[in-house]
Amino acid sequence: MSCCSASGLMPVSEALERMLAQANTIADTEWVATEKALGRVLSEAQFSPVDVPPLDNSAMDGYALRWEDLDAEQSVHLPVSLRVPAGAAPSELEEGTAARIFTGAPIPTNANLVVMQEDTQADQAGVSLPPRAELKAGQHIRPAGQDITQGQQVLEANTRLRAQELGVLASIGVARVPVVRRLRVAVLSTGDELVEPGTEAKPGQIFNSNRYTLAGLVAQLGMEFVDLGIVEDTAEATERALLDAATQADVVISSGGVSVGEEDHVKATVEKLGELKLWKLAIKPGKPLAFGEVAGTPFIGLPGNPTSVFVTFHIAARAFLLKMQGVRDISYPKYRLPVSFSRSRAAPREEYLRVRTRVDAGGVMRLESYDNQSSGVLFSATWGTGFAVLARDTVVEEGDLVDYIPFAEL
Ligand code: AMP
Ligand code: MG
Repeated sequence: MSCCSASGLMPVSEALERMLAQANTIADTEWVATEKALGRVLSEAQFSPVDVPPLDNSAMDGYALRWEDLDAEQSVHLPVSLRVPAGAAPSELEEGTAARIFTGAPIPTNANLVVMQEDTQADQAGVSLPPRAELKAGQHIRPAGQDITQGQQVLEANTRLRAQELGVLASIGVARVPVVRRLRVAVLSTGDELVEPGTEAKPGQIFNSNRYTLAGLVAQLGMEFVDLGIVEDTAEATERALLDAATQADVVISSGGVSVGEEDHVKATVEKLGELKLWKLAIKPGKPLAFGEVAGTPFIGLPGNPTSVFVTFHIAARAFLLKMQGVRDISYPKYRLPVSFSRSRAAPREEYLRVRTRVDAGGVMRLESYDNQSSGVLFSATWGTGFAVLARDTVVEEGDLVDYIPFAEL
């Protein structure tokens, strides 16, 4: 283990790079129904066996006919020889006639444009149609394959499936998809002071919130939360829990117990059972973050403070977990926005402020930060809409542009 700055803290970017170098994608795959595949990671590229749409079809309710049967300057009246609702397989259109057609219905062969109903006048004998001058050849026909063509790759391997990907898969007739098995993430909450909500908190005790934050974050990434519950602040309990977690899960995450106090047993236990590869990042909040392995299973030791958990999970653990899960694109966008606060003293750690956006009277979006940025104030994360990232060793003045990461994009 080596460190790299005057403060003895590793820069976030370097720590991330080192962690990601250790993240091995799990190899197991399984097949799931397309309707159950939301949030799952595709294990193979998907190619379309069909054209979408399969046939030329009408984009409007109206009449399908031949351009040649219209007059250049004058309205014409044509008999209606066919009726084509959506789902029908029409016969060929007779020359000199029109087909009544509905949105999504296949265009009869011979017809080469659709005139929308609103531009026509129907009567007993047929339909009156506008002159060509008012129309465009081929109008309102959606060609076969305009969305997807047969043989086209629609999704790359290692894509995380969102609602729109499920829709596209369904549109090419795919009912089941091969996906990477859900990553099993074991979570343990260390701390003698912790009790679960639903039980009474005696003097000196607090409710275990990290377990709930982490359960939600793991679920949001589409992974399986393996709950190891609360672990006592003793070397024995920590050792037992870490070994148990390592055998049950693909990756182990702990909260608390990674600082330097004598009640902090996680770091020493990881060193005993495996290896500590990183400890202490130049990040605020979240400095005592630890990373290594326990009995061959990757281990991430998050700090205990609830906001540190929220920040370090997003900034350090998330990318590692997504890579293990096999997600190709683990990046997230950062937007440059002006701040409506200042930081007059340069700090040696990259700071992740909980902020929210506000649009001023002039229509300019600015970042406001929550007043109390203490690592114990988790409320800041519910008040906020994202992180403002303040670079190390820089002073920030009101109006300066900083990186903004919306929680919703993480
Ligand atoms: P530690 O790193 O174990 O010293 O914890 C740092 C701070 O976070 C202490 O104030 C703990 O009480 C608090 N803390 C640790 N774990 C949790 C948890 N699971 N839920 C809420 N607060 C916690
Ligand atoms: Mg503790």
